[in-house]
Amino acid sequence: MPYARETAGKGGHADFVRNPDVQTFLSNCSYLREPSDEEGRALASRFQPAPRSTPPRLPRFVVASDASKSDTPISDKLPSTQVGFLKVSHVLVNIDTYADLLDPSNHFVDPFKVADMHRSASPITFTMPGSNIRYKGIFSVKHGFRRALFDQMSTNRGDAQAPMHLTKTLRALIGTTTPTISACPSCGHDDARIEFNASDVVQCANCGAEVFVTDWLRLHEGISDYGDNSSAMTRMMNAVEHLMLGAYILQVFDVHPGALSDIAFVLDGPLAVFGEPAKLSLRLQALIHKVNTRLAELGLSPMLVIGLQKTGGLMNHALLLERFLGDGMLRIVDDDYRNTYVTGSDNPAANFGNETYYGQDFLFKTERGRMFNFALPYPFADKSHNGGGRAFALAKTEIERYGDQVQRACDVIRHFEMDLYDNAIVPVALAHRHASISLVPGGQVLNLLVRGGLGKR
Ligand SMILES: [Zn+2]
Repeated sequence: MPYARETAGKGGHADFVRNPDVQTFLSNCSYLREPSDEEGRALASRFQPAPRSTPPRLPRFVVASDASKSDTPISDKLPSTQVGFLKVSHVLVNIDTYADLLDPSNHFVDPFKVADMHRSASPITFTMPGSNIRYKGIFSVKHGFRRALFDQMSTNRGDAQAPMHLTKTLRALIGTTTPTISACPSCGHDDARIEFNASDVVQCANCGAEVFVTDWLRLHEGISDYGDNSSAMTRMMNAVEHLMLGAYILQVFDVHPGALSDIAFVLDGPLAVFGEPAKLSLRLQALIHKVNTRLAELGLSPMLVIGLQKTGGLMNHALLLERFLGDGMLRIVDDDYRNTYVTGSDNPAANFGNETYYGQDFLFKTERGRMFNFALPYPFADKSHNGGGRAFALAKTEIERYGDQVQRACDVIRHFEMDLYDNAIVPVALAHRHASISLVPGGQVLNLLVRGGLGKR
């Protein structure tokens, strides 16, 4: 909504909305609005009691991630010259240790004890060329961005014991031995597909330019030489956070697959990858399904992957509905519900998020009265169920398909909900506050998981 930013002066926004032209325009639009009391009660009656048991079913470890970015000009005198700085932070919480961190009188986490836990570490960062920056002398910002992405994804982000190269993660997620790109990102030549066999860098047969396996993500397509590149940086931040989820899952899966049934991964945001790299979402869906199929063969519970959304249209809707809902209620958000009450779409897609989402949204009001919007991975290898489209949209909202994951996700939220912040849970808040507490760099999380006794299975 670009207009929202153009309301600089005090009262400007209100004047703008009161403008008769705008009012006429809005009368022709449908959009999220506050439900009437009658509607609110009707909507609330479609929620069900959230599953729970005593004692709660908790994982042994929670790995929470949060990403942040800055794409500010490099100096006040050069406002058109921009560098993108991305940071993905992970925090590992051992459920047993967490119990010791809680102040039993007020359910607050003792920040000093948390800081003691992992004092020595730092998050994973990426520094990317933005507007008017030519990396390594490459002729345009876009192609320098491609090079920088490859350089930084192919370096080891873990350590000697637990290396983590995101290029390897990407190849594993793509899932074929020969990833291909249909056209050269440099000259556009598309007579022959560009294939990556052993090497992650190949030369275009037409122009001779280097093409990188990381070009598969198409992140560079949003980069311009002189324009604002902040939306491309947001896409990259989103893609990297989900790639790193894939990296952790793959690393633990290769060493001790059974250990994954004791871990909950919690991401800040929906289980979705947007924009140019969206096809990554299908790969993550397939990977998670593969892991959970293997865990079922081992007679173990599925791995928990939870997306927690603090903002957005669905959360706004949930907050409008909150006063009509009793505590401890849950609803799976089917497409019809979303299209009718959240997005106001008259001509919706056959399946919401078909290109971007790999997880299903739920609304949950806890027994303590806080509203959460969480997501669980679709329990399918892909979206082709019964021909896909509408058939998939119906199948993905059959709550029985999620088995015990709904209850376990609710239990994790109940266990970690905070008095301090609404709609946040402790591990995510910890990942968020990376400035004040130290965090574990990516690869070390794996080491800690392995050293934490997960190798015992
Ligand atoms: Zn070329």
